[in-house]
Amino acid sequence: MESMWESRILTNNGPIARKFETELGEYLGVPSPRVVANCTLGLVIALRALGVTGEVITSPFSFVATTNAIIMAGAQPVFADIDPVTLNISPSAVERLISPKTEAVLGIHSFGNPCNLAELHALAERHGIPLVYDAAHAFGVRVGARSLLDYGTCAVTSFHATKVFNTLEGGAVFSRDPALLKRVDALINHGFEGETNVLNWGINAKMSELHAAVGLEQLPYVTGNIKARGKLVNQYIDGLSGIEGLSFARPPADVTTNHYLFPVMVDQSYPLSRDALNDFLAQHNIFARRYFYPLISDMQPYRDLPSAVPQTLPVAQDIAARILCLPLFPELDPTDQNWVISLLRDPSC
Ligand SMILES: *Cc1c(COP(=O)(O)O)cnc(C)c1O
Repeated sequence: MESMWESRILTNNGPIARKFETELGEYLGVPSPRVVANCTLGLVIALRALGVTGEVITSPFSFVATTNAIIMAGAQPVFADIDPVTLNISPSAVERLISPKTEAVLGIHSFGNPCNLAELHALAERHGIPLVYDAAHAFGVRVGARSLLDYGTCAVTSFHATKVFNTLEGGAVFSRDPALLKRVDALINHGFEGETNVLNWGINAKMSELHAAVGLEQLPYVTGNIKARGKLVNQYIDGLSGIEGLSFARPPADVTTNHYLFPVMVDQSYPLSRDALNDFLAQHNIFARRYFYPLISDMQPYRDLPSAVPQTLPVAQDIAARILCLPLFPELDPTDQNWVISLLRDPSC
């Protein structure tokens, strides 16, 4: 921060933001990330940079920002059901919704678990449409040796305070397409290319020097934090395995996860419903999250869309009704965690 005051450059793609972009690229092993004010604006910009104004097929099982970004970009969301294994957009459901109006697919890697990458990429190629990923949960996730942020025509991650890695508010846009990145750069800064030339209507999505400085200071801690999360996740798995009616989705073997969240699925054979379990935990001052619930397609601005009909989204409806994310953060005390586990083992006490 001292260097920021000394340079008198507080924002506008200053030296700290550029240094942060370089270190981010090195940490993640991806070329040329573009930092932005937040992931939501990054998604709007990605869709705008692709010139998408028609239909965008997306998942209703996400945070509302995914669909809001489609509207803000001037396009129309179409909801596709999710895959019961990945909990992400189902390639076959997307295939059924593709029409001449389809201009992009916007998938989300929920909980850092990758979408069905190979199938979605083949589908996008076959139909000649771009594939954008809401990668808000995917910081630090690798598929084999490659960052999950490096997949798709464009991917956008979040550095919001609640994420695995944060700059208070912030995010980054990733793409391998230099022409697309050039349009992204302009859109981040009101559409300007150079001093006087405005390419397109843009927005202000610049990351300030202060936020970039926070990012630079946080970067050395993220590997340790992910490790601490992983240890806690293993303790949850050990403690909760074999409980009738509770199950958890695990990432495929070739994926190195970031352990961002620990969702459990509450089945019919568990003594309590998901909502009753959530209330029971809250009575003991344990605040789990029904995440993602409700589905975006059931929210007021979207529920009247033809693709929002609950019967057409049976897997997403089922998962949203049964999922619960348990407390998980690097400093979670093992005694507290054991208490959470014992309450889940015996929810009658
Ligand atoms: C957090 C989140 C966002 C929004 O990120 P911001 O940086 O807060 O704009 C978008 N999508 C998903 C899935 C998220 O979890």
